[in-house]
Amino acid sequence: MFITKKLKEIKKKISRNLSLVVVSKTRSNEEILELYKSGQLVFGENKVQELTRKYEELPKDIQWHMIGHLQTNKVRHIAKFISLIHSVDSIKLLYEINKRAFKENRTINCLIQVKIASEKEKFGFEINEIDNVIRISEGLKNTNIMGFMGMATFTSDNELINKEFNNLNKIYKQKKSIKLNTLSMGMSNDYSIAIKNGNTMIRLGSSIFENRN
Ligand SMILES: *Cc1c(COP(=O)(O)O)cnc(C)c1O
Repeated sequence: MFITKKLKEIKKKISRNLSLVVVSKTRSNEEILELYKSGQLVFGENKVQELTRKYEELPKDIQWHMIGHLQTNKVRHIAKFISLIHSVDSIKLLYEINKRAFKENRTINCLIQVKIASEKEKFGFEINEIDNVIRISEGLKNTNIMGFMGMATFTSDNELINKEFNNLNKIYKQKKSIKLNTLSMGMSNDYSIAIKNGNTMIRLGSSIFENRN
């Protein structure tokens, strides 16, 4: 009951036009089912093994998003069902997704993960690589690049977060088209800043599942 209420409260706060990915990593099937029954169909996971297990065990109309770093050799495990991969961070991975999607006779929706944070260890393409990724993707028939995903630095410095999200929004606005229309940014700690910077999709976990009162 508690998590359904939290989800409702958050949905009330955000625009209807914003798509909400409920990040269900480490959460139980029971918790996911509770939100599913309240109408939430989109869930995000960051580990292939957990994702495939939940796909097998839970209702088939759930739309699963892969939001974490994806190793090339694991794409085959999720290719038949994944609804959106947020974390395309190498050309090699993009080719592999295309190959596996072809084998499954489908098209897989993807976002280009862009490095916007100042921390060195974050995955993603550099801003100056994006044009090349888009150019290559245009030759691939079984992947569909729908936009970008970015993660801001984990910090309490809201100005820095704002700057990083603003950078990604600028790129998004330049590249935006009918096909490329998704900007995935914002997590529990920074989603209000992401909303100010024109995101179209947010990924929320702890703000729904954890009681912070
Ligand atoms: C865990 C995770 C989230 C959700 O984070 P919360 O702080 O729990 O909202 C969003 N995006 C990615 C890529 C994550 O790994």
